Amino acid sequence: MADRMITDVLTQPDATFDGTLRPGAFSEFTGQNKVKERLDIAVQAAKKRNDSLDHILLSGPPGLGKTTLAGILAREMGGELKVTSGPIIEKAADLAGLLTNLNQGDVLFIDEIHRLQKNIEEYLYPAMEDFTLDIIIDQGPNARSVRLNLPRFTLIGATTRSGLLTAPLLTRFPVRERLDYYQGDDLESIVLRSARLLEVETDSGGAAEIARRSRGTPRIANNLLRRVRDYAQVKAEGQIDSAIADKALAMLEIDEDGLDEMDKRILEAIIVKFGGGPVGLSSLAVAVGEESDTLEEVYEPYLILEGYLNRTPQGRVATEASYKKLGLSPISKTGQQELL
Ligand code: ADP
Repeated sequence: MADRMITDVLTQPDATFDGTLRPGAFSEFTGQNKVKERLDIAVQAAKKRNDSLDHILLSGPPGLGKTTLAGILAREMGGELKVTSGPIIEKAADLAGLLTNLNQGDVLFIDEIHRLQKNIEEYLYPAMEDFTLDIIIDQGPNARSVRLNLPRFTLIGATTRSGLLTAPLLTRFPVRERLDYYQGDDLESIVLRSARLLEVETDSGGAAEIARRSRGTPRIANNLLRRVRDYAQVKAEGQIDSAIADKALAMLEIDEDGLDEMDKRILEAIIVKFGGGPVGLSSLAVAVGEESDTLEEVYEPYLILEGYLNRTPQGRVATEASYKKLGLSPISKTGQQELL
């Protein structure tokens, strides 16, 4: 139960306050300055040419603002944002339905585009390149292909794993941008902005504490802010400072470096159950009771970035920092794990 709660903080969509906290314009979107600047130029250029925006691929870990950027780009272009996701599109007809309902200038956002079935992906190629769609109507001897013209739309694909995209799909995105984890001061500004919108009194110390423990991820920062707000409302008349943030986050078992119970369980499994590694992803997933994909896309990138984990061709390996984090020493000659 407690584990579920922790995982939720990392992965849950920001359902309750998505509408209020999601930035609606480039000016409200903090950080990722180079990406923002390049996308803004693409928008200005398309507008000048009176053309649709080029197709864009956004990659990076979950919660960094890919969907948010797609919304901003649609708004800038005066189009509508239609959101779908790779695994949801099961049949070519689903995709045809989405494409034929678009208007000029609309943005079709396909999240987890690397999970799109290959046979469906092939329908996307002419749609992206020539704004046409070939559909087969009728069956048997009467079957024939009909070419439909589509409005000039923009496809924005999002992926946590750009390496899994096929070459033909990848090359059909003229614009490709990667979002990186946010720096502390950018995250602090995001927390302060969200606090303002949620009307929670937060000083800069409180915002900095939440930011520091948010794994460089705005979605997590917003989710933690909401949890700290609950704590502050019960224990401190609703005001958040660094001491309250610290206590609330400690209660959620999120440590000073932003690692939570699941992170520690992953490190502990590698060290204690698999002798420090290397261990394959699927064995590790079974050992910690989590999906392989979630481990790989949600937990590992940050553990690797912070130097707690190495990915080698043989499998995952614990680092010195992870032994230190758990207060363990590397395995001794007797094969016994020792407490430091
Ligand atoms: P992704 O699509 O990459 O998983 P989202 O676009 O859904 O991430 O972002 C998650 C949440 O984080 C959004 O609801 C938004 O409120 C917040 N967010 C993301 N990026 C920013 C940013 N640069 N500035 C402010 N808030 C942001």
